Amino acid sequence: MTATAIGVQPAIAIHPGQANSLHLTEIPRDEPGLGEVLVRVRQVGICGTDRELIHGSFGTAPTGAASLVLGHEMLGRVEAVGPEVFDFVPGQLVTATVRRPDGCPACTAGQPDMCQWLDYTERGIAGSQGFMTESVVEDVHWVVGVPHELAHIGILVEPLSVVEKAFRQANLIQRRLASWNPKTALVLGAGPIGLLGTLLLRSRGMEVVTMARRPAPHAAAEIVAAAGARYAAMQDTSIQEVAAALPQIDLIFEATGNAAPGFAAMEILGNNGLLVLLSGASGPAELNVPAAAINGSLLRGNKVVVGSVNSAREDFALGVEDLARFETLWPGLTARLITRRLDGLGDYARILENPDGDIKTVIDVDEGFRVAG
Ligand code: BGC
Repeated sequence: MTATAIGVQPAIAIHPGQANSLHLTEIPRDEPGLGEVLVRVRQVGICGTDRELIHGSFGTAPTGAASLVLGHEMLGRVEAVGPEVFDFVPGQLVTATVRRPDGCPACTAGQPDMCQWLDYTERGIAGSQGFMTESVVEDVHWVVGVPHELAHIGILVEPLSVVEKAFRQANLIQRRLASWNPKTALVLGAGPIGLLGTLLLRSRGMEVVTMARRPAPHAAAEIVAAAGARYAAMQDTSIQEVAAALPQIDLIFEATGNAAPGFAAMEILGNNGLLVLLSGASGPAELNVPAAAINGSLLRGNKVVVGSVNSAREDFALGVEDLARFETLWPGLTARLITRRLDGLGDYARILENPDGDIKTVIDVDEGFRVAG
């Protein structure tokens, strides 16, 4: 980075590894250098990863810094551009990718989301300051434009990009088949990732059942139904029961945040089908599973189980396209994922509140930025 500091600004930070160390700090306010843009942060989103960071489960501060500034889901407006920036102009709405490369073969080949050495940095997560502040300077390489028409839901581009990567991986892997025409999907989890996965798969015309713990009615189940998918509660019915009533399941997204349902999903995946593990590994450290039956059915049915983390710039671009598609298919539906808005960086103490029915909390960093949802 060639950025130069011109004062300080407030930021929401933690002391990584230390539970409940959430605090306001001050960080330098930078000016854009060569190939960089200055982005005024309008909104930041909060996700399960932020909650785990706040609980001290993981996270690292940048070298030499005492605090890690949180925030990896951002929507902002370009305020100024440095020399040799041709693709962005002041006023444009933008977001930015999360991960920065570490020099491993995959990163060097342009795929930091497939990093092999895992020495990458991630904005707001690992070794790089996040977006929960007023302005950020970013290399244009990582910046993605968001059309003004999507201003009210543009904060969802990052979580959607995670799902886009999963679907892109699924389609790449399934090129092994001469006939990949997925018709039936199961989505486990009805948080932002599960719901965005539901919308994505429904937008591709698939029959989708989305399962999560809590029985309906609640906001997430309503969103599932409004997109033409079916909601089933794990408290009422098992994954096996749901699968038994469906045609063969071609694709499963696991996004519950718990390690157990993924193993049940391995048992019911259809032949030639693909299960994508998308959520962190909380939940039981050990589990009794019917190992021989799972092994045998994966083998005989040529089934794939794959992990997918983070997302590439192209997944952000796909996310922008699909948000527009969702608006056409189901006007106003995607905005219903945003269930809680915090009023500026000073409202940081409320991040951890978990009101009933909350799906996605965003912080309106820029007080002037209130877009009707
Ligand atoms: C982010 C990913 C990131 C991952 C790291 C997720 O919340 O969306 O970009 O790689 O956390 O745990």
